[in-house]
Amino acid sequence: MAPKIINVDPAAFDQADLQPAVDKILAGELVAFPTETVYGLGANALDGDAVRHIYQVKGRPPGNPLIVHVSSIEQAKSVTSEWPEVAQQMAEQFWPGPLTMVLPKADSVPDIVTAGLDTVAVRFPAHPIARALIEMAGTPLAAPSANRYTGISPTTAQHVIRSLGDQLDMVIDGGPTDVGLESTVVSLVGPPHVLRPGMVDLDDLSEVAAVEPHNDRLYVEDEAAASPGMARKHYAPSARVVITSPSMRQVLNTKLVGILRLAGGPPILDAFVIDMPSDPDGYARQLYDALHRCDEQGCEYIVIEPPPKNTRWDAIWNRIRRAASSEESSE
Ligand code: AMP
Ligand code: MG
Repeated sequence: MAPKIINVDPAAFDQADLQPAVDKILAGELVAFPTETVYGLGANALDGDAVRHIYQVKGRPPGNPLIVHVSSIEQAKSVTSEWPEVAQQMAEQFWPGPLTMVLPKADSVPDIVTAGLDTVAVRFPAHPIARALIEMAGTPLAAPSANRYTGISPTTAQHVIRSLGDQLDMVIDGGPTDVGLESTVVSLVGPPHVLRPGMVDLDDLSEVAAVEPHNDRLYVEDEAAASPGMARKHYAPSARVVITSPSMRQVLNTKLVGILRLAGGPPILDAFVIDMPSDPDGYARQLYDALHRCDEQGCEYIVIEPPPKNTRWDAIWNRIRRAASSEESSE
């Protein structure tokens, strides 16, 4: 069955617009909703049965913990059992916003949310619809990205509907998301370290505290131990992805190639060319939509022109490397 779609303008809406979604959440059901990073598939984080549906709908293995979304620092404290000074400082600097912190969990958080870990990932999102939904529900929301497991995260309601539409009751359409990549995940258990790079980058974080950079290899080799959701097969489109110059299109002996191009240039024969923004914020905002569009076009390959290599582009490199890993594309 097609889901009910609620159109909400993030810049001008009434609480009444969100009431049907709040009712659903409080009835233990799921609602897909926009955050500033990507669209989330939300359930009451304190209701283990509701959270179980999230795993079923996404086809996500139970070993992948979910992020708990809150609408205040007070509420973040209520799902954690320790709130160190560094968490307070990070929250004051980056919340509401695209930063997730991993901390020791409170007993009130069901084990299914954290995949049995004694830590919980918590984020206070900036998106006005996400904030209002959590506030009105009066409960934190567990919400992974609203796509099938291993697919590309959704940055529009249309992406959500294409990936999960037949399994969802309700989708809040608040237009395209602003950040476009999943949140930065920082563990504050032990010395602070990045579990997943995001658009709050190392330079931003180091204004508050010394934070160890993300170790990509750790997750490839021992992903289950540290940050289960960082499985390699995340962020993969159906097409095979190669990070190389658009001029390599000639050697790809296939019918249709998608090209994410940075430097611009003339049209390319038998290619579906997308000219990407040259600034990291703009690029991040459009990356997943570009990958979704290549898949929709039926591209067999996607050529991604290598972006600059500096801290501002770390999260983008992390996602395109994952998309390009041959193991991801082989399933
Ligand atoms: P997603 O829900 O798809 O945005 O992914 C959630 C991410 O949060 C996962 O990829 C994990 O890296 C991270 N995460 C969630 N909970 C924990 C936790 N308790 N410990 C470490 N990482 C976590
Ligand atoms: Mg995801």
